[in-house]
Amino acid sequence: MSSTTKETGTTTKPTARTTTTTATAGESLLTTTANARPQEKDAPVLAIVVPCLNEELVVGDTARRLCEVLHKLSAAGKVDAASFVYFVDDGSRDATWAVVEELHARDARVKGLKLARNVGTQNALLAGLLGVKEHADCVVTIDADLQQDEAVIETFLEKYAAGAHIVYGVRRGRGDSYVKKATSGFFYNLMRLMGARIIKHHSEYRLVSRKAIDAIAEYREYNLFLRGIFVDIGYKSEVVPFTVRRRGAGKSKHDFRKLASLALDGITSFSIVPLRLVTVAGMLVFLFSVLMTLFYLYHKIKGHTPPGWAGTIIPIYFLGGVQIMFLGIVGEYIGKIYQETKARPRYIKDTELF
Ligand code: UDP
Ligand code: MG
Repeated sequence: MSSTTKETGTTTKPTARTTTTTATAGESLLTTTANARPQEKDAPVLAIVVPCLNEELVVGDTARRLCEVLHKLSAAGKVDAASFVYFVDDGSRDATWAVVEELHARDARVKGLKLARNVGTQNALLAGLLGVKEHADCVVTIDADLQQDEAVIETFLEKYAAGAHIVYGVRRGRGDSYVKKATSGFFYNLMRLMGARIIKHHSEYRLVSRKAIDAIAEYREYNLFLRGIFVDIGYKSEVVPFTVRRRGAGKSKHDFRKLASLALDGITSFSIVPLRLVTVAGMLVFLFSVLMTLFYLYHKIKGHTPPGWAGTIIPIYFLGGVQIMFLGIVGEYIGKIYQETKARPRYIKDTELF
């Protein structure tokens, strides 16, 4: 599959170096250093993309910690000094964007993109990936609450240096609540059962190369399910375990409804198993009703009184229920087709800080 994908971007050097020199000068978020030491010649430019929805309580701390990581990595010669953090404000209603602007003014390594409205984590991540594509060699996506251990980025980079185009962070136990664990475990198993191709215990914490982003740019679907798309590309990938922390401040935006919708999108974007189940179940129900008819006919011919209303009413309800349920599943897919044929933009950019 990789042979069909565009081979752009792996040799050209990113333009971020020139951008950062023109960015607002100011004190660094780190008191220790304003300018990183000269890095090794071919260290990659790393962009860290962070989707944010109403995260005013955490973005400041997150920016500081991620800049610290970048600083350490560039001092060790593992990433280029032009590496940066890119916050994607997914239509926040609080002061998230104002905080990002302030952080950008203080430290040019903090950059950001404000989307015109909330488009959901998947599309916000896509906006981030496509937004930094021309400026970075590789991109790590991480949550604004830093529930994922940012220290693992170093291991991601090692795998990238060794030739991996996609490095999946996989959870090793989690500090989330019992309900959260149970719901995400349920949806995860459901998706696997229905044939969606996803990596076990992986969410959106991963490193991808520019070549991999070029590849996903070719997927024009409206309902983009990133976890599945990256597996679908087929480039060399690696898996790195990490431990999950509890959210520091603010609350989770992924409630049951969002998780359910994500699971449904994951299933219906990657598999037609539910449609097949409908066909098979439809056949079984049909067969069952034929047998029932024969059974009643036999009794009629024999002169036995057929059973009362239950024999008529129950199948009607049964078939009615089954039909409505299956129509719903078919409708899910028709809904998908409807959205895809409209080919609307998946996100709208408002302001960009670069
Ligand atoms: N998020 C987003 N848009 C949304 C919902 C969430 O950009 O519509 C971001 C959120 O700000 C966070 C990340 O996605 O950075 C993960 O969300 P959260 O921590 O609330 O979910 P959980 O960790 O509980 O799954
Ligand atoms: Mg979280």
